[in-house]
Amino acid sequence: MNASKRIAVVTGASRGIGATVAQQLAREGFFVIVNFASNEAKAAQVLNAIRASGGDGALLKFDVSDAKAVEQGFEAIAEEHGAVEVLVNNAGISIDNLLMRVKPEEVDRILDVDLKGTIYCTKEATRQMMKPRKGSVITISSVIGECGNPGQSLYAAAKAGLFGFSKSVARELASRGIRVNVVTPGYIQTDMTDALTEAQKEAMLRAIPLGTIGNPEDVAYTVAFLASDRSRYITGQVIGVNGGLYM
Ligand code: NDP
Repeated sequence: MNASKRIAVVTGASRGIGATVAQQLAREGFFVIVNFASNEAKAAQVLNAIRASGGDGALLKFDVSDAKAVEQGFEAIAEEHGAVEVLVNNAGISIDNLLMRVKPEEVDRILDVDLKGTIYCTKEATRQMMKPRKGSVITISSVIGECGNPGQSLYAAAKAGLFGFSKSVARELASRGIRVNVVTPGYIQTDMTDALTEAQKEAMLRAIPLGTIGNPEDVAYTVAFLASDRSRYITGQVIGVNGGLYM
């Protein structure tokens, strides 16, 4: 264990926004824990890319919705690498369905991953931030949690729940030097949005004042700022990265 290592954990870092965030934090000097649920090959590619550009990190598999696995994962990080300084709660899924067709198991799965997963990871990470009295938690919610969307009521419920959770934890932990903020991406090009229909994509583009889809980098730069001391006076905030889609 190297005491000078600054540890950042990014959940769901094998693809999409999480993969780009992990690479950006590595560029900023963090030792990045690349978490994934199942896609080890993709996660390994992310770690290889980090190392190829002079950074370092490690792979760690756990399902954020499994409280025990999260606890064990964070214990392993502390033992092998040191205390976590930055947590990016990025892992997320969307299950789209009109409310009338929603099944109870869909409600459970969305809340388990998108809401409870963040709660479990934040609890374990901030436990490690207490003693050093330093830490930044950045949670990736969604513009959908702010403005809603037909067919996405479950996703919106989970993503909106992150606001109240994060603001409460920000108040609980501010005196310990721990900041907690939320980033709400708009329409960002990833596997998640590639799954939308052409009609959905066109409707979304028409509603974006800046007139273009966002890149994972747009989110990663904001996360990197919130992870850094440059944002030392920012906590309990919800920051939109959405091209003006929601103001
Ligand atoms: P992707 O579907 O591209 O990637 C999802 C990532 O989360 C993968 O790394 C996946 O791992 C991981 N993951 C899924 N379930 C779990 C789990 N239970 N435990 C641990 N990891 C898990 O998603 P995006 O990059 O598009 O989205 C990332 C975040 O940004 C999500 O929270 C999403 O809601 C949010 N967001 C995305 C927007 C967009 O336009 N793309 C807009 C607004 C918000 P594996 O590869 O192993 O399956």
